[in-house]
Amino acid sequence: MPAQIIDGKAIAQKIRQEVALAVAERAAAGRSQPTLATILVGDRPDSAAYVASKGRASLELGMGSVNRTLPEDASQEQVEEAVRQVNSDPTVNGVLVQLPLPPQINEENVLSMIGIEKDVDGFSPVNIGRLAQKGREPLFVPCTPYACIYLLEQAGVKIEGTRAVVLGRSNIVGMPAALLLIRHNATVTVCHSFTQDLPDIVRQADILVAAIGKTEMVRGDWIKPGAAVIDVGINEVPDASKKSGHRLVGDVCFAEAREIAGWITPVPGGVGPMTIAILMRNTLRAAQLQDK
Ligand code: NAP
Repeated sequence: MPAQIIDGKAIAQKIRQEVALAVAERAAAGRSQPTLATILVGDRPDSAAYVASKGRASLELGMGSVNRTLPEDASQEQVEEAVRQVNSDPTVNGVLVQLPLPPQINEENVLSMIGIEKDVDGFSPVNIGRLAQKGREPLFVPCTPYACIYLLEQAGVKIEGTRAVVLGRSNIVGMPAALLLIRHNATVTVCHSFTQDLPDIVRQADILVAAIGKTEMVRGDWIKPGAAVIDVGINEVPDASKKSGHRLVGDVCFAEAREIAGWITPVPGGVGPMTIAILMRNTLRAAQLQDK
């Protein structure tokens, strides 16, 4: 039987509706409008598109949106000053620095400047440190990794006691996804570009999270029958039938994997739409925490 498709678009839409309702209720009760500030450094088209869609989503849900754009050759001091300003602005509830930053910028120092109560992307060292430590609670968890867990939960996939394999160990996706799965009591193997015998390791996974950025690298015969497959990868492949000349595919060969897996997320329409929905939810939560 083919896998159950986990519809990230529909699940994200539900989160967005819930956030929009809560924002409207705040307004009716005379509370402040939750507001997200984004900081974009440089002119990468993908980063500019992500920042634009975060701003658009904020406005669509009735939230406030502030954007600071700095040039590609901005100095460390200029980027830090932009973070300092929005971080100390009482009308801003969440601060997001779009990554990656240009090479002359020390990312760690910049992220350290975001107060944990405004760190809606969950990348400040304190929030990540708490995520990694038993018995500590981060105020915010990075959006894409959290989206992976949320999709599993919504699909009714059992996480506790299972064997999970995470492909990729980036700060943004792989490593926090692995930490979250451990917090949910899975036994986790993290694979990276030095991992030997990758297909054999993947075959042991009850839950597979693929975040490597390699077009359809995971084949159907790598998948354990009945496994839950969360495909985070976003890769462009040429497609003359599309106006853009390309289409998006994941890190998993969907056509093969869906014949073997128990659950699978499509690309597009799986993890992608969830990331911004979780960011919006985190921004609302930041405003709620800052009310107190
Ligand atoms: P990244 O920073 O480039 O990290 C890729 C990871 O994959 C690294 O840990 C790397 O290992 C590992 N890797 C690369 N080639 C490998 C191979 N052949 N075998 C095993 N491991 C390999 O990428 P990222 O930022 O985590 O993003 C991963 C993918 O997710 C990309 O396609 C990206 O577009 C997508 N993404 C999607 C969303 C969303 O909202 N859906 C959000 C963020 C990212 P090393 O550490 O050894 O180099």
